[in-house]
Amino acid sequence: MPEKPNHSLKPARILRVVLGDQLNIGHSWFASVDPEVVYLMAELRSETDYAKHHIQKVVAFFTAMRCFAQQLETLGHRVVYIRIDDADNPGDFPSAIRKVARQLGVQEVSYQLPDEYRLDRALASSAEGETYQLTTADTEHFYTTRTELAEFFKGKKLFLMENFYRAMRRKHGVLMDGSEPATGQWNYDHDNRQKLPDSVAVPPAKRYLRDVSEVVEALEKSGVTTIGRIEPAAFIWPVTRAEALDLLEHFTEHLLPRFGAYQDALTTRDWSLFHSRLSFAMNVKLMGPREVVDHIEQRWRRDPEHAGIAQVEGFIRQILGWREYMRGIYWAKMPEYATLNFFEHDSALPDWFWTGNTKMRCLSHAINQSLDYAYAHHIQRLMVTGNFALLAGIHPDEVDAWYLGIYIDALEWVEITNTRGMSQFADGGIVGSKPYVSSANYIHKMGNYCAGCHYKPSEKTGASACPFNSLYWHFYARNREKLERNPRIGMMYRTWDKMQPEAREALLNHADSLLENLNAL
Ligand code: FAD
Ligand code: SF4
Repeated sequence: MPEKPNHSLKPARILRVVLGDQLNIGHSWFASVDPEVVYLMAELRSETDYAKHHIQKVVAFFTAMRCFAQQLETLGHRVVYIRIDDADNPGDFPSAIRKVARQLGVQEVSYQLPDEYRLDRALASSAEGETYQLTTADTEHFYTTRTELAEFFKGKKLFLMENFYRAMRRKHGVLMDGSEPATGQWNYDHDNRQKLPDSVAVPPAKRYLRDVSEVVEALEKSGVTTIGRIEPAAFIWPVTRAEALDLLEHFTEHLLPRFGAYQDALTTRDWSLFHSRLSFAMNVKLMGPREVVDHIEQRWRRDPEHAGIAQVEGFIRQILGWREYMRGIYWAKMPEYATLNFFEHDSALPDWFWTGNTKMRCLSHAINQSLDYAYAHHIQRLMVTGNFALLAGIHPDEVDAWYLGIYIDALEWVEITNTRGMSQFADGGIVGSKPYVSSANYIHKMGNYCAGCHYKPSEKTGASACPFNSLYWHFYARNREKLERNPRIGMMYRTWDKMQPEAREALLNHADSLLENLNAL
């Protein structure tokens, strides 16, 4: 843990604000040292309290920020660092900026464009009534600008990720041979997404052991409320650029060869399988998407046998495709996006989302793992917790709040588009062309959750029937008017209509009884 950074407040000309997710040491701001420039970094209640965060998420942010501040000082930059337990902590960014700007007597306050709408508004207001000039800079992180996706899809009704992704591949020359995709194919999805066989060993998750007791104590002392579990003496997440680069190297050498094949696998054998766990490091900008993608592509070009194109393309698609796409949707559709509720769902999240105490083994595993590590992989988020929340008709505000709090990588620009959009279809089909819902079939097929579950995946009604089965049909039946004309869904209604009326009624009655008491599942 670094020493507490220097708080000296000699006059300066420019104050530059560095947010907790802007830890990009390669930014042009830091290319040279100027004694007239002071960097402001702050641990604030506005940031710890806008959602109920996982303790590991808050600790990861504050520890990464402290390490970054120390790195800046080592390079000779002047830093004002406000800690969460400082007696005179101003509480939010506009107040912190005003206070420090006045103390230093600066003529200019500058900030890098935030990724979150909330902070964009807050920072833009931080010069009201003040004499200093407010200027902005790009974060120099993403491939795309905030508005690039909106311009790309201008006049289009459908925002197809695949079209955007191919355009990005062409524009940035990623996995391309001239104007054609390398190896002649854009997409290898059909080669991927297998169940994890017992014969395949999973390497243990790489850990960066660090004692974070000081930060945990500061949070307790300040009265910050958190969820989840932590081992303060053995915190495992990468919080420096060196650790992030090491994790990238570890992923490339040991996990990438099986990344795509098992990226959708659901199993109790391990918590991160062949996933990279790079999302936190990338989202706080310890490293950029371009260097990750370049690293992976170069490794493949050097030795195509190490990890096949299906694995490599599958991974690059997540970053160059999905990550940039979600950011573009966010800036194209906010702030209205945060209010969308296509199905008009209004139920409360069951209490066990906060404890993992449910008899449903898939949910118990995914939630307990999230409480233990502040992490779940994509299919756990989408097809276990998200699938259940959608089938159960939970209000998207509640679902968003949960995802925004519990995951270490959760920042609104990428959380809300994935949750409200991809997972809950609350945007009515901007991100996805149909809702991601399934009965027990999918979960059973993709892993070992169902073996040993209190419920039976093959049963549809009755005390031991898997709740996903009747809730699945209830979802389609109650939303028929909204979904029937969707060409990707029509088939479901034909199957439903072919069922015996008594079978349909039994399914709906069973689902109704479950929905009345979600807490008991
Ligand atoms: P890997 O599986 O190794 O993938 C590599 C990288 O690709 C990730 O680090 C991430 O940067 C990127 N990526 C993969 N899928 C997506 C996606 N759908 N959208 C954007 N980037 C993607 N991701 C977040 O970073 N923050 C969130 O708050 C978040 N919330 C989500 C909520 C729901 C309901 C769902 C379904 C997905 C969410 N995702 C979120 C996307 C994805 O689940 C995570 O990025 C991923 O699980 C992070 O783990 P990893 O680094 O091991 O990813
Ligand atoms: Fe989940 Fe149903 Fe399988 Fe149990 S039987 S693990 S509740 S899908």
